[in-house]
Amino acid sequence: MSCIEHKTTASPHNGEAGRDHNPFDVMAPRAPRKTPVDRKNGKHVKANDIPPQGVYLPNNNILAPHMKSPEYVQLSTAAAITLGIMGGRMYGCECTRCLNLLLTYPEGCRANCAYCGLARHREADRDYADRNFIRVDWPAVPMTDIIDIVARDPENSPFHRMCISMITHPRSEEDTFTVLKQWTDRIDPAAIPVSILSNPTTMTRDDVQRTRDLGADIFTVALDAATPGLFDRTRGKGVQSPHKWSKYWDIMLEARDIFGPQKFGAHIIVGMGETEYEVLNLVQELVDLGGHSHMFCFFPEQGSLMDHLPATPRDQWRRVQLARYLIDYRDARVEQMRFDDQGRVTDYGIANAELADIIDEGIAFRTSGCPGKFQDDISACDRPYGDSPPSDIASYPFAPKKKDIKRIRRQLDIPVTLE
Ligand code: SF4
Repeated sequence: MSCIEHKTTASPHNGEAGRDHNPFDVMAPRAPRKTPVDRKNGKHVKANDIPPQGVYLPNNNILAPHMKSPEYVQLSTAAAITLGIMGGRMYGCECTRCLNLLLTYPEGCRANCAYCGLARHREADRDYADRNFIRVDWPAVPMTDIIDIVARDPENSPFHRMCISMITHPRSEEDTFTVLKQWTDRIDPAAIPVSILSNPTTMTRDDVQRTRDLGADIFTVALDAATPGLFDRTRGKGVQSPHKWSKYWDIMLEARDIFGPQKFGAHIIVGMGETEYEVLNLVQELVDLGGHSHMFCFFPEQGSLMDHLPATPRDQWRRVQLARYLIDYRDARVEQMRFDDQGRVTDYGIANAELADIIDEGIAFRTSGCPGKFQDDISACDRPYGDSPPSDIASYPFAPKKKDIKRIRRQLDIPVTLE
């Protein structure tokens, strides 16, 4: 069995102050400031009423046009490059395999999640269409333009999946249905399956059913926080945000009923103050329900209420990434693992040789999310550099190479045995 004693001295893989994990006390968001009345609800974008003219590339120095879903959606920089709408190259990747779409409105998302670049408090200084989200810009594009490009040859598209991210807005259900229907009317979901990243706060069981009836393949819930206390602190009443842990679970259980095993899951951000034991218990709970966890490494998003806090130290992240992969795809159980008095993994509960093989395969350290067309444990949603800079990769958007595996092993504190 692989048993690891954690060092108490600072290591180059540790975060600030030599910590090898982000403890709860350190990870407190700052309080949101009051938004001036003339900046609330996208008021000036609506007042200026500048007509959109096709693709809008985020630019905080010009007035954002008056764009809204379902006619317009935003898409990740990686998806825009892959579609040919934007120029640019991504370190180590030719393209992304997931077309991530985000509903868009001048009012933006009405929630205030502390780690998120799209949060409501940002209306004080940045229009919604200009906000960074998971470290990148999100250009706005007419939905019909996107469908026209992909519908030319869906079978041979670089995209293995499309995903609609709902935000917290009174129109988000209706517009999700419209965007989904427009897509499935022209693109066979068997060629490019669709995932829904839902907004449980405003959804009912019927809404979940409707996404299934319109052709969605997987339904996910962004729990993001790993415990009810952290959820409340980062996306509930702690930051004047409307979300409730219990509602997220209710909708996820509806999705389990409607979509079935392996077709639902939850997003979790690692390193916001939970222990490794807590997050891995949640991973186990999801697997026991028949679902999957999709993991993100906490990164202090610029402009968010947590942008002053440390990114998750690589030690903590790698341990959780590896243990989560073992639970999700290799039939390991959290009960077989061992943890120290701070909840850190000390033993993965499987034989050393098997663990070494799994580490060397590298899949455990790739971006996790809904599957693409390669194999079940390789995510279509590769989100290049959504949770780290390319200089210190957290989630690998490509198959880690030998030198990457050596680095990962050092970060895990497991001896390097590769040549
Ligand atoms: S609901 Fe989603 S998009 Fe809105 S602030 Fe929270 S995490 Fe960001």
